[in-house]
Amino acid sequence: MLAAPVTVSHLARSIRESATLALNERAKQLADRGQPVIHLGGGEPKNKAPLSAIVSASARLTTGDVKYAPADGTPALKHAIVRYTEEHYGRLVAPENVIVSSGAKQSIYNALLALVDPQDEIVILAPYWVSYPEMVRMVHGQPVIVTPENGSFVPRLDEVEAALSSYTKAVIVNSPNNPTGAVYPPELVEGLVALCEERGVHLLMDDIYHRLVFDGARAEPAYAFTDRDVDESTVIVVNGVSKLYGMTGFRIGWTIAPRGLVEVLKNVQAQTTSCPAAVSMAAAEGALTGVQSGVESLRLGIQNLRDVMLQELRAFEGVRVEPPQGTFYCLPDFRAISEDSEELSRFLLDKALVVTVPGKEFGAEGHLRLSYCGSTKDVTEGVRRMRWALDPTAPNEIVIGDRRLVRDWL
Ligand code: PMP
Repeated sequence: MLAAPVTVSHLARSIRESATLALNERAKQLADRGQPVIHLGGGEPKNKAPLSAIVSASARLTTGDVKYAPADGTPALKHAIVRYTEEHYGRLVAPENVIVSSGAKQSIYNALLALVDPQDEIVILAPYWVSYPEMVRMVHGQPVIVTPENGSFVPRLDEVEAALSSYTKAVIVNSPNNPTGAVYPPELVEGLVALCEERGVHLLMDDIYHRLVFDGARAEPAYAFTDRDVDESTVIVVNGVSKLYGMTGFRIGWTIAPRGLVEVLKNVQAQTTSCPAAVSMAAAEGALTGVQSGVESLRLGIQNLRDVMLQELRAFEGVRVEPPQGTFYCLPDFRAISEDSEELSRFLLDKALVVTVPGKEFGAEGHLRLSYCGSTKDVTEGVRRMRWALDPTAPNEIVIGDRRLVRDWL
């Protein structure tokens, strides 16, 4: 039988395959064949969901009464988010300023869908999270990338200002940043708030890692720098339970925005996914209202892993790393070894069985994103293998699993 011709749209065809997923598939194939693969590519912490989340979700589930919920989220979860925002952002918002979605990713996508007319521009600060430019294109907008001229991971305010045009609808900021782990200084956030409010441009703050910060660093909330009421401000805040509460699989995120925008976001959601899943919302409510000590232990555990990662990388000839101040990622510079991060990443997987993510995905060619959200052994063994594969000063013999390997390519 002949296959039906595939007539997907130009837009759909232009959406890039996720290199991360392709690498993960290759890694999985190797692992399925019994190869001892180490993952430094992951984007989720190992910790389990808080007990309060599980109890709350189970209680919901055992009623057997799991139906559609309000399109913008249950009143109970919205109330918990209002309290969270008051405690961690110092802002009292109304429930009408809050909409819950199926993950922060959907929150961001819906916000872009609600804001962007064809050809509108969205300013994205490099290095950036892989999904931003693709999402902007999916709503027929134009991503405008700002790359810090001095090669650092933090742009200057004037560089952002120079990228604004009469078509700019929003600037997306992610601090602490995936993939660099950089936390933008408060003066920059303050400047961005002032700039965006003055120009009537939205400032979309992706705060998904906001409390995963190290050494006393603080990711200042944008609300700290505006006296305007949330309904009058151009600031939009996205957050969720995925990272801080180790609940990636529950798929709950949220947006805080002026109520006029929330109304539109509600319509977008009602016509697409109807509502976030009721059991997941119960879990998120449990996480936000239950004992909070898990967030601090996660933060401390990750900070230790960050230290181990930095220590291991310092011994790596030719590799430069900017110490991350937050998240569970770092973005070392491998340009002294290779300019082609995709090739390098593939090489490391094939030769050393280590999964990394090419910096090219994040607008940072010549770098690799390494995660330290696994175990200490993942970090030490992962970097040891990478050094063996790439660093001529490292011993040229290594034991991986039950095989002794000799490096014969340096
Ligand atoms: N923003 C950033 C910067 C992220 O790294 C991620 C997850 N990798 C998300 C948003 C999406 O999070 P969620 O699981 O809530 O969709």
